[in-house]
Amino acid sequence: MVTRGVVAGAAGAGAGTEETADEASAVTPEGVLEEELLRLAGSVPDPELPVLSLAELGVLRGVRLLGPGRVEVRLTPTYTGCPAIDTMVTDITQVLRDRGMTEVSVHTVLAPAWSTDAISAEGRRKLAEHGIAPPRPLGGGGPVPVALSVRCPHCGSVDTTVLSRFSSTACKSLRRCESCREPFDHFKEL
Ligand SMILES: [Zn+2]
Repeated sequence: MVTRGVVAGAAGAGAGTEETADEASAVTPEGVLEEELLRLAGSVPDPELPVLSLAELGVLRGVRLLGPGRVEVRLTPTYTGCPAIDTMVTDITQVLRDRGMTEVSVHTVLAPAWSTDAISAEGRRKLAEHGIAPPRPLGGGGPVPVALSVRCPHCGSVDTTVLSRFSSTACKSLRRCESCREPFDHFKEL
């Protein structure tokens, strides 16, 4: 009996066909455990943006049981070389060990690449709630020369300017609203 693994939420749309797992796997004890492990791993807070869980950030690709107490986790870094990845791996390993897994292997998957599109709707809502301007959805295509309409999370004005390309982390820039004069973090598009 081969376990097929569970694949995280919206991520991986249009991904490989080998993941078309038979629905039955979700009701086997292994499938149920995998779902739980995926949920646990997904609940780990992002080291750089602790208001978001890894599931909401969209970096978790899937979880697969390899055998009793042995689990494999697939993770896509937000960008190559993001130092947060080591913390994510450590935290995921810890939470799954606490659940009784003796062998946790975390693999980083680089393709398909993570983009800010992978942040869930709930994740975007939380970013806005914490005064961090959510990334604009991509899809317009073409080059992205200037951030034309980054909206102030405080007053909603689009009259905002960049103060610093990097704020508290490399993934965010620091901007200021020219209407209400409040500074805010903006999660950069990738
Ligand atoms: Zn404002």
